[in-house]
Amino acid sequence: MTSSVFSHLNVDGAVVTDPTATAFAAADFGGIINRAPLAVLRAGSIADIQAALHVAAANNIPVVPRGCGHTSLGQAQVLNGLVIDLTAMDEIRDLAEDQVTVDAGATWNALLARTLQHGLTPRVLTDYLGTSVGGTLSAGGIGGTSHRYGVQTDNVLSLDVVTADGMLRHCSPAELPDLFYAVLGGFGQCGVIVRATLPLIAAPERVRRIKVYYPTIDDLITSQRSLLAVGRFDFLQGEILPTQDGWVYMLDAASYYTRPDEPDEELLLSGIGFVASRDKIEDSSYWEFATRLDETVTYLEGTGEWHAPHPWPNLLFPDAQIESFTSGIMAALEQTDMGASGLILIYPMTTAAFDTPLFRLPDGDTVYLVAGLRFASDAAKARDMVAANRRWYDTAISLGGTSYPTGAIPFTSTDWTRHLGAAQVTLAEAKDRYDPLNLFPRRFA
Ligand SMILES: Cc1cc2nc3c(=O)[nH]c(=O)nc-3n(C[C@H](O)[C@H](O)[C@H](O)COP(=O)(O)OP(=O)(O)OC[C@H]3O[C@@H](n4cnc5c(N)ncnc54)[C@H](O)[C@@H]3O)c2cc1C
Repeated sequence: MTSSVFSHLNVDGAVVTDPTATAFAAADFGGIINRAPLAVLRAGSIADIQAALHVAAANNIPVVPRGCGHTSLGQAQVLNGLVIDLTAMDEIRDLAEDQVTVDAGATWNALLARTLQHGLTPRVLTDYLGTSVGGTLSAGGIGGTSHRYGVQTDNVLSLDVVTADGMLRHCSPAELPDLFYAVLGGFGQCGVIVRATLPLIAAPERVRRIKVYYPTIDDLITSQRSLLAVGRFDFLQGEILPTQDGWVYMLDAASYYTRPDEPDEELLLSGIGFVASRDKIEDSSYWEFATRLDETVTYLEGTGEWHAPHPWPNLLFPDAQIESFTSGIMAALEQTDMGASGLILIYPMTTAAFDTPLFRLPDGDTVYLVAGLRFASDAAKARDMVAANRRWYDTAISLGGTSYPTGAIPFTSTDWTRHLGAAQVTLAEAKDRYDPLNLFPRRFA
């Protein structure tokens, strides 16, 4: 099969087949796997996607949708297939006082910039906003407010999806719920999300951020657990960070406010072991806080690490097992295992607000996210780190954990089947209904 089957397509966007022009879609943020597509559709309209799907189906060419390509192990790649690049479909439409309809290729950064003009915000923002709305809704979308609102896929009113037959379908919890729940967190296996309608809430004006640097992981976990129970902070995260003297364990918690109200700082700091000479209190606008990673990105671009391989594993653990995991890994973890600027994110979330069937959670009312932000200096180091990720995953499974599969943990179809658990049945049924030819490659066995 050649890329020429797409050459007669008359599209609003563009079809590119030249290997230099399609190289971006053969790669991703992970920088570990490279799979060249036959062609890339830079979609300019829904009609473009429909036309390209008809050609792909007639010629039995696999199709993968792509947002910003910020997954780490080929999740948005397809060898000898068609990549549908959504990034030019980025219009923000119909902004009302409690919801917005947005094209799937818009970044969260652009969406937030627009909603803030009206004093509004999505409930959950990922730490980095340079991802697409369609991309995180196809995965989950975890953020520092997930302990309150679940993941981004739990905060969607409706979707417009182009299915494999080229039909544009509107779906929601009430309308075609089988499609809605097969697409949210579905990694593009049942259709292309082209638009999403999301609820909005009043945005706070400012953020008071507290950073407490504990000497042990147990201190951090104990503190996070009690803060989660009392719900004191709007934003709750944590990090394991390298220092010259070894690892430190940072509570990262924030309270949102709008003047004339001010946070009760004495209350915020009570019982969390805050030491003024060691720890930090920062105050910023909500926008500065939401885009706080921009500075880190600039730094990593300077060191070259932003463009080096990123073997990042993301795991979820039941509350009862988080200490088993951390004591195991921290006993032997060296800075070189994470790379020069490497660190580990770790924080708890209550699961009450989570209800996306394909976002696979461990059992229990509370779960911990552990995300290893590893930076590899070369391909050999990246391979070692990916192998280490797999060992972390196997340990997680033995402890009742799950993966958040946006990262770099090698996953076979058998792993996908285990990962999906009971949700596989409904995903398989939806796939039979909306993509019987497996035009969108099926990941599970
Ligand atoms: C620096 C950085 C920070 C991050 N921080 C967070 C974080 O805080 N929380 C979090 O949850 N994640 C985080 N991630 C992970 C990131 O949110 C996910 O990998 C997300 O899927 C990336 O969005 P994307 O637009 O780049 O998607 P892509 O990588 O392009 O695609 C991801 C998957 O979704 C599918 N897909 C993409 N668009 C569509 C569509 N329109 N319709 C159907 N399927 C589609 C693709 O086929 C692929 O399987 C981070 C990643 C990076 C690089």
